Amino acid sequence: MKFQIAVDIGGTQLRAACYSVGENRPRCIERIPTVHPSNSPYNRLEQLIQSVWPEDGAVESIAVAAPGPLDPYKGIIFEAPNIPDWVDLPLRSLLENRFQVPVALGNDANLAALGEWMFGAGRGHHHLVYLTISTGIGGGVIIDDRLLLGKHGLGAELGHVTVIPDGPLCGCGQRGHLEAISSGTGISNWVREQLNNGTASILENAVDVNAKIIADAARSGDPLSIAAFQRAGTYLGLAVTNFLHIFNPTIIVMGGGVSRSWDLFIETVRSTIHLNVMNPHFLSDLTITRAELSDDAGLMGALALARSQNESRR
Ligand SMILES: [Zn+2]
Repeated sequence: MKFQIAVDIGGTQLRAACYSVGENRPRCIERIPTVHPSNSPYNRLEQLIQSVWPEDGAVESIAVAAPGPLDPYKGIIFEAPNIPDWVDLPLRSLLENRFQVPVALGNDANLAALGEWMFGAGRGHHHLVYLTISTGIGGGVIIDDRLLLGKHGLGAELGHVTVIPDGPLCGCGQRGHLEAISSGTGISNWVREQLNNGTASILENAVDVNAKIIADAARSGDPLSIAAFQRAGTYLGLAVTNFLHIFNPTIIVMGGGVSRSWDLFIETVRSTIHLNVMNPHFLSDLTITRAELSDDAGLMGALALARSQNESRR
């Protein structure tokens, strides 16, 4: 039997799963906290991979999804949230030396796009734009059945398109990016700002104002919370219109925690697109939908990378 191992490196959790070649359901899956006083994250990662290693067959390859920025061509992680030691870490060569099989590395949002395209909502499409909307906004683009990476493998940071010049500060340090407005962080920052300015809301005395609490408040009719999601949807719609004009996809897939509040912003996204699109042909055969892979997006994305790289090696 032949196997592929998929690994998802998150800020709080490391996950690894072993798949039989041709099977999309993991044979085994293990999760451990990323940071633990007993051992370094890299050593924990090696142990985690070892723990899913099959006794009864050969591993074809290991594929790893990690938060950027990273170089997918050289297999180097430039930096990783929550793992301060990982600066310019040559993860691919370290793991190849340790396990003696080919190792592939990819940005988690790009791989989630690849996973949705191969196994999820984007199956059968050749041109896909993926957005993951949570505390930040990540993106991935598939055009002509290929993942768009660019010269240094740093594409496609769709959350960092400017939608308000000199707008709110983004997690990346620049201003007015989509992430600073339509992410969970952007939504809750705006609501806090309105509350500080004296806007009436059922959240006035809330201890922690986060996107989930704002979504609950919006569903119970709170005008400020409804407005917060409409504002996020408006800017998301503007950004998506730009992506339609640039990439001409047939499907837009949205994942991440904020996409669970889809009902609160999607109509605004759709109406903004209709108002701003340059030509209705961009909308013909266009699907806008939620991601299907949810929590397993990173692992399934890594598996998709392993499968596509094995294809190209054959
Ligand atoms: Zn940014």
